Order: sequence, then C-alpha cells, then structure tokens
Amino acid sequence: MKINIIGAGISGLSAGCYLQMNGFETEIFEKHTIPGGLCTSWNKKGFLVDGCAHWIMGSGPGSSFYKIYNELLDMESIPFLNHDIRMVIEVKETVDKYGSNQFKLYTNLNQLQAYLLDLSPEDSVLIISFISDIRKMQKYDLPPILDDLPFVKSAIRGFKMIKYVEFLFLFLKWNNETNYTFSKRFKNPFLQEAIRLLYDNEEVKMMVMMMPLAFFDVKSCGYPLGGSIAFAKYFETRYLELGGKIQYRKAVKEIIVEDNVAKGILLSNNTFVPSDITLSTADWKLTVFNLLKGSYVNDKLIKLKDEKSLAVFYSVVQVSFGINADLSDLPHFFRFPLDEKIVSPDGTIYDRMEVHLYHYDPAMAPEGKTTVVISFYTLNRDFWIDLRTTDRRKYRTTKTDFIMVVLDSLDKRLNIKDKIDMMDMATPATILRYTNNWKGSTQGWLPGKNLIASSPVKFKLPKLSQFYYASHWSQPGGGLPIAIMAARSVTKLICKQNGKKFSINKRFETI
Ligand SMILES: Cc1cc2nc3c(=O)[nH]c(=O)nc-3n(C[C@H](O)[C@H](O)[C@H](O)COP(=O)(O)OP(=O)(O)OC[C@H]3O[C@@H](n4cnc5c(N)ncnc54)[C@H](O)[C@@H]3O)c2cc1C
Repeated sequence: MKINIIGAGISGLSAGCYLQMNGFETEIFEKHTIPGGLCTSWNKKGFLVDGCAHWIMGSGPGSSFYKIYNELLDMESIPFLNHDIRMVIEVKETVDKYGSNQFKLYTNLNQLQAYLLDLSPEDSVLIISFISDIRKMQKYDLPPILDDLPFVKSAIRGFKMIKYVEFLFLFLKWNNETNYTFSKRFKNPFLQEAIRLLYDNEEVKMMVMMMPLAFFDVKSCGYPLGGSIAFAKYFETRYLELGGKIQYRKAVKEIIVEDNVAKGILLSNNTFVPSDITLSTADWKLTVFNLLKGSYVNDKLIKLKDEKSLAVFYSVVQVSFGINADLSDLPHFFRFPLDEKIVSPDGTIYDRMEVHLYHYDPAMAPEGKTTVVISFYTLNRDFWIDLRTTDRRKYRTTKTDFIMVVLDSLDKRLNIKDKIDMMDMATPATILRYTNNWKGSTQGWLPGKNLIASSPVKFKLPKLSQFYYASHWSQPGGGLPIAIMAARSVTKLICKQNGKKFSINKRFETI
C-alpha cells in the first residue's frame, strides 16, 4: 500500500519511519532542499545559524520520551550537551547578597536549591517545596499526548491512573501559579525580581518552566551538537535506512480527491503522483484550505482560521552575528536589560535582550569565532509577512536597519562591533517562506490557559477518506515531542484502519 507524505519536517520523517516499520511503502514530498522543516540551521559565511532547538526534551534515559526517540533514532550515538546552567538572567532593580545582578538557573536541582537557599535563607520553606515538587515531576514525564482519542481519554487508557493521582495534586497546586504570582511569594527582593523575569516580560505558568527543569536535572534536556539540522538529518538517515524515499524541491499544490476519496497529490510542476493514502504533515491551514480547497471542514476548523478558538504560537525575529572572537567566558544563554528599549519595526517593544552564544558547539563557527543569536518573540508577525509580500525592497532595508539597531545594543554589552564577520536576520516571513507555517508560527498553537487543550485539527478530516493529517499543529504547545507523537499516533490509526497491528522495528542497522 503506497502512502504519499507531504513534508519532510520531523512529523513527516517520523511518520515515514513508523509507516515503513509497519510495512507501508512511503514517499515523502518536500518543497525545500533539505530535511527538518522548522528543525533547521543554515550556513552563512562559514557560520552555522541555528533556527530551532536549544534543548531536546527526552534526550537522555531520565525521561520516558527517550524510549520514543529510541524507536526512531539510536539516541546513545547522538552527542548531546547538557549545560550546567540553563540560563543567566540579569536583573535591573536589585542585586543579590554578593552584589551581583546575575541570577543563575542551574540545571542540577541540588545545586539550584543550595544556590537559592544561600541567597535567601528566609525563603527556605518555599524553596525546598519548589525544588521538591520539580523532583516529583520527574516521575510523570511527558503526557501521553495525541492518541487517536483525545488527551484525557488516552491518559486514562494508556497509563496507570493511580500514578497520576499525585500528578493531579501537583497540577492543581501549580496550575494557577505564574512567574508573576510565584515571585511575590519570595521575601528576598533579588529572587522576587529574578523569578518574575524567568520569562521575558511575560506571565507564564510556572509548570511550563518546572517540567523542563525536572528533566534538565536528570540530563534529559540536552542540546544536539551540530545543531538542529544535524538532529533532523538523523531522522532522514533512519527513514532512508528503513527503505523510505524522499523527493526534495517537490512542492505539493493540490491533494486530488475523487468522490471524497484522496487519490494522490499534484506537484507544482503539474505531475500527479497517485497513492492509496495521503498523509499531510505540512501546515494545517495550507492543507485544509489550499491543498484541499476548504472542501472538508467543520465549524471548528472554520473558527480556527479566524484564530477565534485557539491562538497561534509566537513567531520570532532572529538576528544573528558571526563574531571574530572566542567569547567562551560568557554564559551560553543570557538575558539582560537594555538601557534603551528596542522598538521592533513590527511595533513590539523589548526592554531586554535574549542572547545565545554557541561557543560550546564547534560545528557552529570557525575556530576562535562565535555564532551569536538574538531572539525577539513576536505576535505581530503579519507585519513582516505583509511587508515581504507587498514591498520586497522595503522588507530588505527594514531588516538591515533593525540588524544595526540590535548590533548597537549588543555592542554596548559585548563590545563586538569591530569583530563582525557575518550578519543575518530571519523573520516570520522567513519561516512562512521556507516551511509554510501559518503566520510564521514556531510551534503551532499556543497552549494558552488550558495546558491540556486539544487541537480541532484531527488526524482525519470530515467526510474525506484515505487522507490523514499529523504535525505539531495536532496538539497545542507544538515542539518536537508533539511532532513525533502525532506521527506515531497517526501511524497507529492508519495501521488500525488497515487491519495491521502497530509495531516498532528497533533495529538500527541498514536494511
Ligand atoms: C526558533 C524556534 C525554536 C524552537 N525551539 C524548539 C525547542 O527548543 N524544542 C522543541 O521541541 N521545539 C522547538 N521548536 C519547534 C519545533 O521546531 C517544531 O514544533 C517542529 O519542528 C515542527 O515539526 P513538523 O514536522 O510538525 O512541522 P514543520 O517543521 O513545519 O514541517 C513541515 C514540512 O512540510 C513542508 N511543506 C510545507 N508545505 C509543503 C508543500 N506544499 N509541499 C511539500 N512540502 C511542504 C515544509 O517545508 C516542512 O519541511 C522551535 C521552533 C523554532 C522556529
């Protein structure tokens, strides 16, 4: 049985692997020239700029998601770097008892607890209970997301609920706590400010920070050396080893349907490629409203288009520099307050800068040099997308001007202006252009207030047979784990609907 898969992102490659393992003949059609989709990095003037993962949740044996990764990759053979400090946050209004304005978020929980207690013995009860609850979260791992049933049902079905009773208490205890509310519970002014700034001027649920901290501690949130593109290529290699085929530079322009049955795909060069099943892992809106012309929708999908029921995840304006300096004495990831606020051309105002220094990965820059990436998360992505569409020249000059604004600010902190070998800027329009993700979304839907909300974009569309959909848009929050779980779950569904028992081929040797 032949399955055409649209997209060679992590969802498409993972689905390809699982389907090959289950005896389907698959072929992936990807519009770009490389695998990975959003999970990518690009070369510029001898520097590698990373556009995605700073850490991979489930990278080590401390998390059960590691088992899922191991179904697809030989994780032991992949070099992951586990940082001692997740990030350094520089506060503005206070200093700690040593006169420092740098808050260090250690990844080792013992070290983090000792650090916090040293800074603020008066907050010991709060600190010990905070760290103890993060430790408890280590037992629960990632939720059993995305089966062919909604989240809660699948949790009940697939996992021993008794194990989740404690998690339910933890969830109820922390669900309403944000960095803003939690910071107010500290007596120490430095910790109050630092905890509030765990997120950049944003009120975010503490659990969003606590879950990764649980896995950083057990070294299961590592950075893949070689960057996101290297990580994506492991999936591509595995897929090809399993006998899959990939066609790059092959954009799909239509899914051909006859009598409500998907019959194959039409490529942009007008080639028709027939198949028994079509699986799209490309952007949900493109798939539903362009490739399928909006013919298979329900009210929920129509509402989604207007962003009425779910919001789209942040996009990002990413400014990168190749710097002719070592910089390894600086933290690998830090956020500092700006003397003068930066006003982005899209209208977003930033009073801090978030800087990644890739001095820890030799693949990112020539020896003695460093790739530096500054990320500005934005919801005003239509500005960039519209500008690139309507006035390409103005889009380019706006980018150049903004790079100079960012460079001025960065120079005040790092003194690097005369050492710049490379400058680069990606915008929401870049994300849309290269991956087709709606509004330049980096992770599909924003989870919002309800951490376990489900996505109305299901694996099947109403009244359309022989067609399936799975990607990071399949569950709010997105990210690589969701992309893989969506691929795994849709394969289970395809197996079930075709009378096969879902199975995993864990062999890593070439087939
Ligand atoms: C800046 C940034 C930082 C991130 N950080 C993290 C992180 O630290 N941890 C984490 O887990 N996740 C992170 N993510 C999110 C993660 O990268 C994505 O959620 C995930 O890669 C999505 O995979 P996907 O396969 O579902 O979708 P995509 O990556 O969008 O893949 C879809 C593929 O379909 C292709 N395609 C689209 N239209 C067509 C067409 N018409 N024809 C053929 N092919 C088509 C695209 O080119 C693309 O290759 C980050 C993302 C960004 C941008």
